Amino acid sequence: MQDKFHEECGVVAIYGHPEASKLAYLSLYAMQHRGQESAGICTSDGNRVHTHKAMGHVADIFPPVLANLPGELAIGHTRYSTTGDTVLLNAQPFSVACNKGKVAVAHNGNITNAAELRADLERRGAIFQASSDTEVILHLVAHSSERTFAGALRDALLQLEGAFSLVFLAQDRIIVARDPHGFRPLAVGEMEVSGGRKCYVFASETCAFDLINAVYLHDVEPGEMVIVGPEGITHERYAPVQALAQCAFEHVYFSRPDSIVFGRPVAESREQLGRLLARECPADADVVVPVPDSGVVAAIGYASESGLPYRQALIRNHYVGRTFIEPSQAIRDFGVKLKLNPVRHLLVGRRVVLVDDSLVRGTTSRKIVRMVRQAGAREVHLRISCPPTVSPCFYGVDTPTRGELIASNHNIEEIRRFVEADTLGYLSLSSLRKAVGDDERHEYCYACYTGDYPTDLVQIDQLAAAGQKHC
Ligand code: AMP
Repeated sequence: MQDKFHEECGVVAIYGHPEASKLAYLSLYAMQHRGQESAGICTSDGNRVHTHKAMGHVADIFPPVLANLPGELAIGHTRYSTTGDTVLLNAQPFSVACNKGKVAVAHNGNITNAAELRADLERRGAIFQASSDTEVILHLVAHSSERTFAGALRDALLQLEGAFSLVFLAQDRIIVARDPHGFRPLAVGEMEVSGGRKCYVFASETCAFDLINAVYLHDVEPGEMVIVGPEGITHERYAPVQALAQCAFEHVYFSRPDSIVFGRPVAESREQLGRLLARECPADADVVVPVPDSGVVAAIGYASESGLPYRQALIRNHYVGRTFIEPSQAIRDFGVKLKLNPVRHLLVGRRVVLVDDSLVRGTTSRKIVRMVRQAGAREVHLRISCPPTVSPCFYGVDTPTRGELIASNHNIEEIRRFVEADTLGYLSLSSLRKAVGDDERHEYCYACYTGDYPTDLVQIDQLAAAGQKHC
């Protein structure tokens, strides 16, 4: 898996709550879908920084150790890693004691100039513990000639390129920041603590706020740093405004439909994706069936626009991990059956429109098409609620290399034959733009559908050559 260097993550930060570690835990629990391999929480009690990181799911890791994570400040991270060896070493948050005090960081995204920064830091004597690019940020902070943590952080952030939504913990403050393109989300919320005090919360997705009863206020602006300390909350622009490049895939697949991402309800985008798909790629069929869970909301949109009945004819077992992320092909093959089972009486003799959010390698989709046909469907019309995925993501979504992306080297008819569908239809790029409300604004990144990367490609090629790992 050395050729895979992209990871998916969720981050959270809590300032000013006596049960900060519990709130961080619950937030990570709500964001488990953003990464299932390892998770960690760091807290500060004003003096000491406490850390717990482990492999596995959030609900299995934290309940027994929350009492060991005291303090009113916390940051947390959940991560899906693609590497097999040093995984726990790469688990986040990273924490260090340096000349700027005790500091911890958690990162969602992918720093595209990390290899260069790291080589430069190593020449200057820095020693790295892990292969993740996030550690680079802490070294940049430590090396900065600025005396305060916030000043050093500003210095460090200005040297980074690529995608980063970052949460930092210092002894008495939380600082969060988003890259100037705004690739990955980061929302700000607040809640009341007893005595009328305010607690500030930051999370990748607002579904975390819903669970802990926090109110979503707005997003951290791209190029903005938000500092919360004893003096209150300060918003500061650390970098000039750049062309926005918010990740369209967050709305297509990655975020939960009950979240508001980039200020827009994901469910609204996703239903619209399905409606536009029905207009662009209608099917002469009897029933609309989603691939659960990822295709559900788009299938509802497709059904209501087409007037065809919506039927949940594939049942998902929720107690298995995502098959996509299993490391070996053999386990992946087995995994589809573990995860999905057809409801035969809904499928027998029917012409089925099967709706899924995306098609990456095509291997899972082929198994699902076969499963639906074997259950008795007369025809299977596969509809994908985004354009063909032709290019890897370098900004924090786990996509395989270009060679493994079926749409990068096959046309639609060849893909249709591979997945064994009667017909295959993808949504157009212009409809995707419309569905996320970006048709006139140009605030999203569509690089995985166009190959048109919003940042310097030289850096990305170097990164690929270095086989750098990220989150
Ligand atoms: P495949 O047919 O093998 O290309 O797999 C397609 C399935 O993978 C779809 O159901 C998608 O929802 C899912 N998928 C797409 N991208 C990702 C991702 N980055 N992480 C996990 N699952 C994904």
